[in-house]
Amino acid sequence: MSSQRSDNEWIALISTLLTAPKIPDDLCMDPGLAENPNFQKLYGYINDLRALSAALAHGDLQMFAYTKGYILSNMKALQANLRHLTWQTKQVAEGDFSQRAEFLGEFSDSFNEMTIKLHQNQLELERLANVDFLTQIPNRRSAMQFLEQLFLLYKRSFRAFSIMSIDIDNFKNVNDTYGHDVGDRVLKHVSSTLKDVFRASDVFCRIGGEEFLAVLPETGLAGAVCIAERIRTVLEKSELEIEMGPPLKQTISIGVSQVLPGDDKYNDVIIRSDNALYMAKENGRNRVYTNPYEDVDELLKSMFPSDGDDKRSRNGTQEM
Ligand code: GH3
Ligand code: MG
Ligand code: MG
Repeated sequence: MSSQRSDNEWIALISTLLTAPKIPDDLCMDPGLAENPNFQKLYGYINDLRALSAALAHGDLQMFAYTKGYILSNMKALQANLRHLTWQTKQVAEGDFSQRAEFLGEFSDSFNEMTIKLHQNQLELERLANVDFLTQIPNRRSAMQFLEQLFLLYKRSFRAFSIMSIDIDNFKNVNDTYGHDVGDRVLKHVSSTLKDVFRASDVFCRIGGEEFLAVLPETGLAGAVCIAERIRTVLEKSELEIEMGPPLKQTISIGVSQVLPGDDKYNDVIIRSDNALYMAKENGRNRVYTNPYEDVDELLKSMFPSDGDDKRSRNGTQEM
């Protein structure tokens, strides 16, 4: 049955279908329209268009539109892109900061900028969590994580490692004499002087106050003592210029220990190096002690021929 509508009435009808907030109920009841297959096709297309655009507007990305066509296929492309972007956002939330959106113009640029910034912030937070604020060397947390890994490796494949407990001698005097600011400068001076002596594979960290810890992978007790002696003498010879008086000379005492087969946890190794440090302090400071109390004197004599100043490392069982 042909419709009695004029061209203008058809145009008005299509406009209504496209733009009215709600399609009038009586439209499909109109027998002239209900029986017109071309109108039904047009009506179906516009209905799909309205439904898909409404779904997109409300963030519903699941709707499936059967009809094909220029406008609908563009809206379907937008729907697919938004679905992909939703997946990408989840990936970013899981920590995959390599995600980049390339298909949504300005929105893609903002998404990419956000992802890059999030990544940078994440890296900075990780750095801050592992670095000592004052000296900018690794902190206690970082050293403990490293030690934990080394200890697991030792338990699996017996790869030796050693530890040094390092403590600045009479540091309180510096604070008391020159103030906290100079004390802080001494801490920075000691850490920057010592960190250059260690190997790249060692971890040298500030564990708090004027106390430091060094972790030396693939290093037995004798090798660690050798390095301990080196850092002790390097610091002994260095000076820190200050305005308030003559250049400051600082010394350190060091306790060294090596991981042993009977150790249950990495803390056992630290306890021994702390005990050795205690011995070094008790016996005059500015020296290296080991624990267990093995005789490393002969070894050290060959490494460091005596210069008359008997500050070489010795084990805790020997008298000074
Ligand atoms: P010893 O040779 O026995 O180790 O003596 P010491 O004076 O070095 O040790 P003590 O434990 O008596 O003093 C450590 C001092 O370190 C006390 C504390 O005020 C100071 N200190 C701890 N942290 C900081 C810091 O971040 N900055 C400064 N300037 N001083 C600090
Ligand atoms: Mg001290
Ligand atoms: Mg101390």
